[in-house]
Amino acid sequence: MRYILLLGGNLGDVASTMNDAISHIAAVCSVVKRSSIFESEPWGFNAVERFKNMAVEIETDMEPISLLNELQRIERLMGRKHKTVNRQYQSRTIDIDILLCDSRVVDTERLTIPHKLMHLRRFALEPVAEYWADWQHQVLNKSVGELLQLLE
Ligand code: AMP
Repeated sequence: MRYILLLGGNLGDVASTMNDAISHIAAVCSVVKRSSIFESEPWGFNAVERFKNMAVEIETDMEPISLLNELQRIERLMGRKHKTVNRQYQSRTIDIDILLCDSRVVDTERLTIPHKLMHLRRFALEPVAEYWADWQHQVLNKSVGELLQLLE
């Protein structure tokens, strides 16, 4: 199965955190292609650092719920405090969402694919549109590119 994941973060060195996350993901499935990192304006008055997002295409035999379990395990792993070289503890949080899976639709308590909010979020649609603009959203019957245009 082919999936599109969305990685996001705004704390610390996000690019390097995303690389680490992708290494963890690559240990359990095959990473086909990744988008550039897209930045979005901070929202809410406490958000000082800009949010960064990246879309990643993966290939795996894992069913959606097994993949979710793996991704949540990786999120927990990454969210732990790591002692860096300068002996400071750093929180490196990352959010990983499943946006799309082939032409499948999943609607369970734990998992909704296509992701319930992706069509409303520029920070999700923009990175996906970079390489996968033709991927069809099976519930809305529109491509990712069309959904992004509708937001504009
Ligand atoms: P968040 O912390 O905002 O990423 O939300 C995580 C929660 O959303 C988890 O409890 C998941 O079970 C649920 N969820 C539902 N659909 C999805 C999806 N497509 N990808 C990731 N998490 C999902």
